[in-house]
Amino acid sequence: MRVHSVTVCADRVDVLVDVGDAETLRTTADESIAERALTLLPGLERHTCDNEDSRSFAEEMADTEVPHLFEHVVMELMAQAGSPRSLKGETSWDFKRDGHGIFRVSLEYDDDLVCLGAIKAADKVMCYLTGNGPAPDPARETERLRSLRAVAATA
Ligand SMILES: [Zn+2]
Repeated sequence: MRVHSVTVCADRVDVLVDVGDAETLRTTADESIAERALTLLPGLERHTCDNEDSRSFAEEMADTEVPHLFEHVVMELMAQAGSPRSLKGETSWDFKRDGHGIFRVSLEYDDDLVCLGAIKAADKVMCYLTGNGPAPDPARETERLRSLRAVAATA
């Protein structure tokens, strides 16, 4: 999974995520993904999620699209950096319109710099969770995001 493009809109940031040939890449591909995600970011357990069976995100996480997990990781990192937990994210896909394996992740934001930084940090988290990168340090990433917010506040 990699971030293909990022578009800042007035009320949200749209991220196109490319899962390549692994079009159906789900968190079931590796049962440790959900476990490691919770260890790294325990706040994910409290996330709510709109899905057909009104399952909690903690339940949903064990069997969902990897870009959907990415969406919740971004929101969690933003929340840790001081963004309101009421902000919403949404993951959708239309492979005919956007291309094979392309997911669209829309993220509401209160601070665009924090949101963009969280997307970058979440990309590292996803690399780690899918076994393609070293373990990131969420506390350090969050601290960096908080400093972005401080810069915006004094600008
Ligand atoms: Zn969700």
